Amino acid sequence: MRATTRFDLLILGGGCAGLSLAMRLAGCAGAGRVAVIEPRSSYVDDRSWCFWASDQHPLIDLVSRRWSRWRGSRWNREAIERSAGGVSYQYVSSLDFYRHALEAIRGAANIELQLGQKALDVTRRQDHFEVRTNEARLQARWVVDTRPPASARLSESLLHQCFVGRVVSLAPESPARFEPDAVELMTDLRNDEHGLQFSYVLPFARDRALVEVTRFSPAPVGRSQLAAELDALLQRRGWQVGETAREESAVLPMGLPQPDPEPMPGLVRAGTGGGALRAASGYGFQRIQRWAEACSQRLAKGEAPLAQPRDSRRQQFMDGLFLRVLREQPDQAPKLFERMLERVPGPVFVRFMSDQAGWMDSLRVVSSLPWRPFVQTLSRRRRDRPARLA
Ligand SMILES: Cc1cc2nc3c(=O)[nH]c(=O)nc-3n(C[C@H](O)[C@H](O)[C@H](O)COP(=O)(O)OP(=O)(O)OC[C@H]3O[C@@H](n4cnc5c(N)ncnc54)[C@H](O)[C@@H]3O)c2cc1C
Repeated sequence: MRATTRFDLLILGGGCAGLSLAMRLAGCAGAGRVAVIEPRSSYVDDRSWCFWASDQHPLIDLVSRRWSRWRGSRWNREAIERSAGGVSYQYVSSLDFYRHALEAIRGAANIELQLGQKALDVTRRQDHFEVRTNEARLQARWVVDTRPPASARLSESLLHQCFVGRVVSLAPESPARFEPDAVELMTDLRNDEHGLQFSYVLPFARDRALVEVTRFSPAPVGRSQLAAELDALLQRRGWQVGETAREESAVLPMGLPQPDPEPMPGLVRAGTGGGALRAASGYGFQRIQRWAEACSQRLAKGEAPLAQPRDSRRQQFMDGLFLRVLREQPDQAPKLFERMLERVPGPVFVRFMSDQAGWMDSLRVVSSLPWRPFVQTLSRRRRDRPARLA
């Protein structure tokens, strides 16, 4: 084990959240000496980040594809298409993001990226933290913990968003092609014994797309099952694959119980484990960027780091209720999403999905949905509460 080294800030985890913070602190004298502890030894293109945004944002140069329209449909029904003026659905390849962040860090004397290092435990000493890794003991005044949540905590999520996707190129003889003008956000919506299932397609060109099968399910669905469902989707749509560039998969928590944002004074949680994924959608990229910006500004002034902020009470309530309805009445799920796509105007939908919804937007979303399933879930909760207390 190496001798103890002292830093001002240790960032545990160099994924989306860790790198987003580190790249903003690169060259920032006020933040002092920073180390990022990351187990992987190199970065590969392991995920696709998408979000709605205008063209005015700091990471616009990383956006390699954008679509102004998106579609959704129930199984065997016609697609509903939506758009929102001035806003597009934007795609950032994780490898482009990692390279951008690594370049910023590489050029900065104040940041050290320690690859191949796993944080094993964190101890609070009198005026500093001590972090033990597989190779060293590190000390720091502050710690930002972006490590993924432990599996026991993940299993407490209300639902799991499970998906397998492949970036495929079609064979020249493929009977069908992709339609590159619009994203398939939630098509083929249907329900079975594992919960809700839908297709997600990012068409990069007529012959190239990310095609994904997604499920919202109370228990994680195995990768092999989803892979078989993806094969069936490709076949059903007549997309004959010539080449598969890469595959991505995940089990994302939806409605993860809120963690203690600052379990020890000076140690904060961020990223997925800090509650960065939006409960009702699993989207986290923009929420992480907003947190990283605010946190870096605090650190630049010599102040303590900031945890991933909690959602407003209104959003927590709405997302929690929506997920409970999906969990308790899964047969309703395809209809609920179809109604939302049908009745919520594009700009309101985008604000709702991007955490920008005001009261009027929330009312618009609520009024688009049938009230009966929500009332049933609410009254069931009220009935169950005394039993649970007992
Ligand atoms: C395949 C996929 C697609 C997604 N698509 C979207 C999308 O389109 N839009 C969107 O908004 N969100 C999306 N998300 C959700 C979310 O944006 C990502 O999961 C995002 O990467 C979360 O960032 P994070 O830093 O919390 O986790 P990660 O990026 O996973 O980073 C966590 C880091 O911690 C490291 N680590 C693990 N154990 C230790 C340890 N003991 N010590 C130190 N480090 C450790 C890991 O190696 C990893 O690098 C997607 C997620 C996945 C998996």
